[in-house]
Amino acid sequence: MPLNDDDFMRYSRHLLMDDIGESGQEKLINSRILIVGLGGLGCPVSTYLAGAGVGFLALCDPDRVDKTNLQRQVLFRSEDCGEFKVSCAKDRLKALNDSVNIEIYPRAVDTEILNYHYDLIIDCTDNLPARHVLNKQCSENKIPFVSAAAVGWEGQLIGFDFNNYSSPCFNCVINGQLQDPVMNCSNSGVVGPVLGVIGSLQATIAIRMLLGYFQQHGEMQRYDGKRGQWLTMTSMRDKACMVCSHEL
Ligand SMILES: [Zn+2]
Repeated sequence: MPLNDDDFMRYSRHLLMDDIGESGQEKLINSRILIVGLGGLGCPVSTYLAGAGVGFLALCDPDRVDKTNLQRQVLFRSEDCGEFKVSCAKDRLKALNDSVNIEIYPRAVDTEILNYHYDLIIDCTDNLPARHVLNKQCSENKIPFVSAAAVGWEGQLIGFDFNNYSSPCFNCVINGQLQDPVMNCSNSGVVGPVLGVIGSLQATIAIRMLLGYFQQHGEMQRYDGKRGQWLTMTSMRDKACMVCSHEL
């Protein structure tokens, strides 16, 4: 489908850019993304991707909005407390951009949800077992994957383009740990805008991947919001990895 008049207005700031333009915008409109987790990361990720015109967003989260979420989960309002996060998020995102198709799953991610076709999966969860499930699905099916986490003043993120032979997987990067090495937000707190920084970068990586501009294979970026410092750590593909080594 060619861009219509509304698209030309709405996406004019993309169309002005030589490395996005009409062909790039059409790629975004024809893309399907699964966002797992609609918390502090999923809120900015889904907002920016809906605004950018990604044509299909699947939102998955079993939780309902709680008053303790409102300090950082910027899609939700006080009156949303008690409602499913994915339902509230869909309403807000449709109000932002009605041309985006949005499917919602008010439950934990499962095989049925994962087996639909996606061009990209974004991990906005706060638990390691879910991250391993998403990593395995993406690695085996060569679906680009963006994973992130934040706690306290710190956040980290990494993208995996499994179509690139040299890309490690999440399991390679964390050396197969099955126990979460860091505490999560609910037991140790988090500064809201740190999630905004990291979530915005997840959305940026997603757009780069969809447009073919992602080259940071194995690079995990870490942000220390208290010191205002960034650190990049590079991991190689692990030839003994339980998840991706069978493809070597
Ligand atoms: Zn691996």
